[in-house]
Amino acid sequence: MKIFPIIGLEVHIELKTKSKMFCACSADHFHVEPNTHTCPVCLGLPGALPVPNQTACEWCLKLGLALNCEINSQTFFERKNYFYPDLAKGYQITQLQKPFAINGKIFLNDHQIRINRAHMEEDTGKSVHLTLHGEDVTLLDFNRSGVPLVEIVSEPDITSAKQAKEYLNKIQQLVRYICISDADIEKGSMRCEPTINVKIETDDGQTVYTPLVEIKNVASLTGVMTAIDFEINRQVEEWKTNGTTKNDTNKTTRGWDADKNQTFLQREKEGSADYRYFPEPDIPPIEFSQFQIEQIKSTLPELPDAKIAKYRALNLSDYDAKLLAQNSDFASIFEKVLDNSTDSEFAKFITNLLIGPLKTISLDIEKINPDYFKNIFDHRNELNSTSIKQLAIESYETGTDPLAIAKSKNLFQISDTSQIEELVKKVIANNPKAVDDYRKNSQSIGFLIGQVMKVSAGSANPQLAKEILEKLLN
Ligand code: ZN
Ligand code: MN
Repeated sequence: MKIFPIIGLEVHIELKTKSKMFCACSADHFHVEPNTHTCPVCLGLPGALPVPNQTACEWCLKLGLALNCEINSQTFFERKNYFYPDLAKGYQITQLQKPFAINGKIFLNDHQIRINRAHMEEDTGKSVHLTLHGEDVTLLDFNRSGVPLVEIVSEPDITSAKQAKEYLNKIQQLVRYICISDADIEKGSMRCEPTINVKIETDDGQTVYTPLVEIKNVASLTGVMTAIDFEINRQVEEWKTNGTTKNDTNKTTRGWDADKNQTFLQREKEGSADYRYFPEPDIPPIEFSQFQIEQIKSTLPELPDAKIAKYRALNLSDYDAKLLAQNSDFASIFEKVLDNSTDSEFAKFITNLLIGPLKTISLDIEKINPDYFKNIFDHRNELNSTSIKQLAIESYETGTDPLAIAKSKNLFQISDTSQIEELVKKVIANNPKAVDDYRKNSQSIGFLIGQVMKVSAGSANPQLAKEILEKLLN
């Protein structure tokens, strides 16, 4: 029996616009006094009229472009009707027929994940369950109600929990690069719902598909992976027990219990007909001109994939290139230090400093002086690795030319052959016993090298000292 997991992901991203999607209330809701960022619109009071947030719409489009989507230039909002205590209007304003962006794709290494859509909608309020005066109660906080939300739906092209994680990391990286969301899973500004089923090829040559399951309420990246793996196994076991296979009506929704590490049945899955979608009558259709779309496109920064390709062209390893491109601030710092150089040795040198000793400092790009790095690099053969690290850190922190620091602290190594030869001769003359030892056992050369370093106050190039000692003693 062979098992092929089929996984699609629905990702919700909260946009970090100043105001909400359809009113002027502040969209900030994290650690805010409950129900202080509300108005008749986001409380769903009768007669209140929504006005779409232009920035949110533009950001949704921008994300669509970053996901290589086609843009629907003529689009409209729809009402998705369902009851939930924290959904004050009794419906969510969203998009079904004409999402802002459709038919995109992203790549995880060489594996393509197709994006079905990225559409604009609004977040719900929050139900807070607690015990008050000995009674179990649910309190409602509408600060989050109406916060702009983009929903990104992938095609079922993901084949494992590990790949799902890579996909989520990539989406997170993209939205952070284009500065439209913090995409923080723990804070709920990025939320993810996997839909899973399994293709089973039996030993007697049959192919069957298990019923679709959508998993809700997974609140961490590890949770997503664990939930997917759990569900794959559960579906295979269930199929072995009752042989049920996928049909048009047996989709279900399951919750994720993070304490027990298992999914549990929540409800039979609704189809879109259950939501009685219809066009939002209070908001006219939205039209983007080609000019507007081009303008939004022009605000896109260079994206991670392009950066990685650029760094690979500098001969950096795949690992280094990905590390440098992992967030846009870090990539900008690297590029500022590189200062348009195409010298791959210099690129590698800077990379080692940035992902090594400088990693521990939070670098301020304004404070970085590319010339300082160039100076250290140009003199790298006269400096040992400890001095290189020290100079990189000190010149950054004090804003002083590293060459001046190196001179004042005597960090340059003596790499002049005749100068070292003088020192070596002195050491040989003053250490007859050690010279004898060396002649019996060449391993003991370390002591003599140590003596050369000592008389040079640590500034001799040790490799050169060793070579000259061997030359003079053999
Ligand atoms: Zn409001
Ligand atoms: Mn949604």
